[in-house]
Amino acid sequence: MQTDAQTTESFVETPKTLAELRSAIASGRLKATELTAEYYQRIQQKNPRLNVYLSLTKERALAQAARVDAAAAKGDPLGPLAGIPLGIKDVLVMQGAPATAGSRILQGYQPPYDATAVIRLEAAGAVLLGKINCDEFAMGSSNENSAYGPVRNPVAPDRVPGGSSGGSAAAVAANMAVATLGTDTGGSIRQPASFCGVVGVLPTYGRVSRYGLIAFASSLDRIGPFAANVRDAATLLGVIAGHDPHDATSSPAPVPDYATESDKPVAGLRIGVPAEYFGEGLDPEVRAAVESGIDALRAAGCIIQPISLPTTKYAIPAYYLVATAEASANLARFDGVRYGYRSPASATLSDMYRHTRDEGFGAEVKRRILLGTYALSAGYYDAYYLKAQQVRRLLAEEFLRAFADVDAIVTPTSPIPPFKLGEKSGDPLAMYLADIDTVTASLAGICGVSVPCGATASGLPVGMQVLAAHLQESTAFRVARAVEASQGK
Ligand code: GLN
Repeated sequence: MQTDAQTTESFVETPKTLAELRSAIASGRLKATELTAEYYQRIQQKNPRLNVYLSLTKERALAQAARVDAAAAKGDPLGPLAGIPLGIKDVLVMQGAPATAGSRILQGYQPPYDATAVIRLEAAGAVLLGKINCDEFAMGSSNENSAYGPVRNPVAPDRVPGGSSGGSAAAVAANMAVATLGTDTGGSIRQPASFCGVVGVLPTYGRVSRYGLIAFASSLDRIGPFAANVRDAATLLGVIAGHDPHDATSSPAPVPDYATESDKPVAGLRIGVPAEYFGEGLDPEVRAAVESGIDALRAAGCIIQPISLPTTKYAIPAYYLVATAEASANLARFDGVRYGYRSPASATLSDMYRHTRDEGFGAEVKRRILLGTYALSAGYYDAYYLKAQQVRRLLAEEFLRAFADVDAIVTPTSPIPPFKLGEKSGDPLAMYLADIDTVTASLAGICGVSVPCGATASGLPVGMQVLAAHLQESTAFRVARAVEASQGK
């Protein structure tokens, strides 16, 4: 069948699995240095059109690849990610590499240290190719808020890849990295994964250290992987998860072997389907694809149970109050004194602050600083911020009760398929409302995976969100793997 997505140019290309690549590298059949060069070549070909990478870390990547090749030649033990080329969302810092967070205000900033997740990936042998485009300070759902231009969806380049980790999802879909890291505050890993047809993981809050992450909303921010398949995503999470003395909110819970766990059968698992996620506003083609995923789980022996999560209707306002309040505090540090951009000609210090922030921040970031400052101001604090925190508690308790009866909850990841570039960029409220399916788990602190579950008639990817209770990533991976397997993968 001729479809929209197929008639336009397509950049889609599936990377080899991590296990295949690693064993080829370990046996010497494939050189990590050659694989790295191949990825840089592909990046050079595709990046001018897709705008995925903001900067490349070639020297560091090739040095690491050479170390892996030398170790493989000597027969030394290799890490689980030995020689695997990965990309890093540009809100995570790497020593000496530019870190922009998609913002003009960080132009020229070179961090003096590595994020913990970066250190752990490299310790496992990974080759880090470069820093990846995203919405400014991770605020957005389309990647159109980047100061460095939008990312295009590799499946349909006239459409958005989702956001804010749009580049991280697009990189995997276009095989410009085997896997990537992104961050998710209100949906920024799950929704772009869904839009680009790849797997994205929201780990439990505290599962992965946030040390070295440029903060958006600290009580919501999570770091997680994107990959072409569930097993690879599980392997990556296993590498980056675990306690870190640099992040007091990181969990000391032991890290399971997620990749092995993801292969366990799902027969007998109880799967909740919340009515609130299947109501008004859900695109009929998205509904059909998600329902086919649910049918596949039933066929695999899962027990499908209708459930209700009535607090869902308050999630968008609660999220956009908590997230903007925290952002307004976190972004106060960008004042032209310590980092990146400084407005050149100002007579006084306060003028310098004002001009730097006015010229350095984009429109969406300014909107959020204003909203958040308002919500926290005396006289409004109780009505907005405190109320939002109360809703957050109710939502978390509601999920907790639900997980007493079911092992996982499945929903659409996004109520709509990827939209056209420019289609929603003039309407912030429409953009916020489309986050309805993802902000709930963000507020509740629970974990989840977005896994491809089909496509629209025109070939646009649809993702299913699989949610599990705190620290039950293994269950989310298992269910996601069953959905993936039903797609013949
Ligand atoms: N789209 C949501 C927002 O704009 C979520 C962003 C995120 O998870 N970083 O806030």
